[in-house]
Amino acid sequence: MDLNYSADELAFRDEVRAFLNENLSPTLSEKVRLGKRLSKTDHEEWHATLNKRGWLAINWPVEHGGTGWNAVYRHIFEEELCLAHAPRTVPFGLSMLAPVLMKFGSKAQQDYFLPRILDGTDWWCQGYSEPQAGSDLASLKTRAVRDGDHYVVNGQKTWTTLGQHADWIFCLVRTDAEVKAQEGISFLLIDMKMPGVTVRPITLIDGGQEVNEVFFEDVRVPVANLVGEENKGWTYAKYLLTHERTNIAGVGFSTAGLAHLKEICTKQMSGGKPLLENPYFAGRIAQIEIDLMAMATTNLRMIAKAAAGQAPGAESSMLKIKGTEIRQAINDLTRRAVGRYAMPFVSEALDSGANAQGVGPDYACAASPGYFNNRKLSIFGGSNEIQRNIISKAILGL
Ligand SMILES: Cc1cc2nc3c(=O)[nH]c(=O)nc-3n(C[C@H](O)[C@H](O)[C@H](O)COP(=O)(O)OP(=O)(O)OC[C@H]3O[C@@H](n4cnc5c(N)ncnc54)[C@H](O)[C@@H]3O)c2cc1C
Repeated sequence: MDLNYSADELAFRDEVRAFLNENLSPTLSEKVRLGKRLSKTDHEEWHATLNKRGWLAINWPVEHGGTGWNAVYRHIFEEELCLAHAPRTVPFGLSMLAPVLMKFGSKAQQDYFLPRILDGTDWWCQGYSEPQAGSDLASLKTRAVRDGDHYVVNGQKTWTTLGQHADWIFCLVRTDAEVKAQEGISFLLIDMKMPGVTVRPITLIDGGQEVNEVFFEDVRVPVANLVGEENKGWTYAKYLLTHERTNIAGVGFSTAGLAHLKEICTKQMSGGKPLLENPYFAGRIAQIEIDLMAMATTNLRMIAKAAAGQAPGAESSMLKIKGTEIRQAINDLTRRAVGRYAMPFVSEALDSGANAQGVGPDYACAASPGYFNNRKLSIFGGSNEIQRNIISKAILGL
């Protein structure tokens, strides 16, 4: 297997770098580099910039307005965006719902919703989890009862990321309570402006508002918003999850995070020397770097397989575990590197347009909130314990 890039791929990398040089504003890039929170407008403007170049829907086929890139091109693109500290694109419409609509949605749903995802008319969020249905998702209870040409929806979703900005939510709802749990679930598209939808924020440990609870009280949803067939939603939900776990290793994020950490360690002093020369820090950084290089190679092997048309298997669970552990180790060390500045963290200093000042140098401001916020990495998208179960069954045959 050849893990080196071809001349075409290297030329493409240069093209991406040139595009980022011209189109990614230093202000936005600096916000991302320092771990500040992005506003809705930041996200929308970045999506519009990518869309103008035709590079927003990197995983869509060309006929729907996507790039049609293979796995290697997508990997190069995502890595360059991370290294340039570009914002992450918001995945809910682009890389979760869109593939489901393309495969299982009606022509009318595709014609209506896909262009609106591309041009930013609709912001989507994901309504899968419920208070008693996370890892055990099939036990979800939100009910949708047919009433003529509508469903009447009652129930609650939780952990809905960026749902406070959303126009629409794609939901798993129970349409048959009498059958095996997986067989009574449907996939419904719900307009968040409908009467009976309430969004309530959940404040996270880092002080930010990123996730929400969403309540449905007698919400009337047209049957035309059902994706595919009634009670077949579990199949579509699982298909979506295979797309949720793209770019799962996060090599670019870790590479950028590690570079940031090293830079901090050249500025923070310990015993009159930069931290980078401290044996404890140097040793831990070296260990992270070795783990990252090993994971990057495994990731490239999977990408080469995917580019050759083979579906990634349980290896993606290995990447999910290792990738999140490496990012959390970087967060942990970054927090330690800024020392006492990590104690008095001022959450508001991370908000767009806020007047509040962080304590200490600018790079210290997000160290603690970043550490706390990224505890989520090993939970969402399928917790690491669940990934270990998958590995034990599918790879180790236990
Ligand atoms: C920041 C954040 C954002 C999120 N965004 C969204 C979103 O936008 N939309 C959405 O629908 N959901 C979202 N989620 C929900 C996420 O998918 C769930 O948190 C996740 O599936 C875990 O479910 P749970 O929280 O109910 O934990 P539980 O399933 O109750 O798990 C609790 C603990 O038990 C372990 N555990 C559970 N079952 C097993 C088992 N069989 N074997 C071994 N260990 C087990 C888990 O790994 C975990 O450590 C988000 C979560 C977070 C933290």
